[in-house]
Amino acid sequence: MKIGVLKELAPGEHRVAMAPAAATRFAKLGIDIAVESGAGLSAGFDDAAYAAQGVIIADRKTVISQSDIILAARPPAPDALAGIKAGTRIIGGLAPYADPQRLSAYAERGIEAMALELLPRITRAQSMDILSSQANLAGYHAVVRAATELNRCLPMMTTAAGSIPAAKAFVMGVGVAGLQAIATARRLGAIVSATDVRPEVREQIQSLGAKAIFEDVREGDEITKAAGGYAGEMSPAYLERQAALVSGHIATQDIVVTTALIPGRPAPRLVSDAQIATMKKGSVIVDLAAENGGNVEGVILGEVVERHGVLIIGLADGASRLAADASNLFARNCYNFIEAFWNKADKVLAMPTDDPLVEAVTLTREGRIVHSRFAQVEAA
Ligand code: NAD
Repeated sequence: MKIGVLKELAPGEHRVAMAPAAATRFAKLGIDIAVESGAGLSAGFDDAAYAAQGVIIADRKTVISQSDIILAARPPAPDALAGIKAGTRIIGGLAPYADPQRLSAYAERGIEAMALELLPRITRAQSMDILSSQANLAGYHAVVRAATELNRCLPMMTTAAGSIPAAKAFVMGVGVAGLQAIATARRLGAIVSATDVRPEVREQIQSLGAKAIFEDVREGDEITKAAGGYAGEMSPAYLERQAALVSGHIATQDIVVTTALIPGRPAPRLVSDAQIATMKKGSVIVDLAAENGGNVEGVILGEVVERHGVLIIGLADGASRLAADASNLFARNCYNFIEAFWNKADKVLAMPTDDPLVEAVTLTREGRIVHSRFAQVEAA
């Protein structure tokens, strides 16, 4: 059994799906790892660091053609997989909602594509959860980035020349990234507040020492029902009430971090241009949902734009900017997933198609799109 790891080719992607420390764990299971030469450089891991852990370093073509499993932080373009054997599994961050054609191309090549972002949010899958491990780092990075762009400091300071009040930070969307953003802003000394649609989050916000700003969810507010800990899509009426509630609040903030996502849908619009116009000049908004359309009006993915004197950062690569830690955690997630199905006695991988985790993540198998959420793509 051989696992291959390729250089990530997406622009701006610094992560790699295998870190040397995780390679050691695979070796202990009796699994060989081959890494494309130079694949870890942008994450701080050179070929020698992998080789020291018994990893085979090879060219891309060799890694692709000889691997039973390929791990990937982002979905490899089908055209960049020349020579792949039918039946090869690609496991990792495959952004299944982003490009339906890519799923068809994987199926045509006989690839068994497994998107770990589709793992259910259950205890058994927690250690495999790439969304959590990467969102946690992105939430941290969002606040650090905002702090470096802000024209003020975050903590209160008392100096001989006078006192400076603490900056105010507001986090919109309190999942994994939002919770880490709150914790980071608090550590840096800001006065923090936060909001979400899920009522159970209120206590989590308060337990981190932040103020909860909440609009109650009423009958008919949810267009799609919340499920599995994820928020549902909210009605225009709710979003309007939510906007009215936070409008006055936003005007007093120095930093706003938005993270609101709804799986499989465009990100909800939470901050309008009119609201941005009420903010102080020099304030900073970091939109972590930019890749999914953005929570903030006018945001541009991967760019910093200025509106009404406010900087809007469309963060595309929060975890990628912390590539060493992000790659380490990502590789551990992949290891935990594979290890769960590794038969140690016979040294074979046994992934029953009816196992709930396998079923949840498998997009394509034996030339077909098999995932219930994406199967209609093939029919189209
Ligand atoms: P996410 O990335 O899907 O969304 C981020 C946040 O945005 C969520 O808190 C969501 O409620 C919020 N949001 C959506 N629409 C909004 C709106 N209109 N206004 C304000 N906020 C809005 O979330 P996530 O970080 O992936 O976490 C989703 C859930 O999964 C959470 O309940 C989390 O606690 C849970 N979780 C469970 C496990 C586990 O048990 N294994 C692991 C990780 C996360």
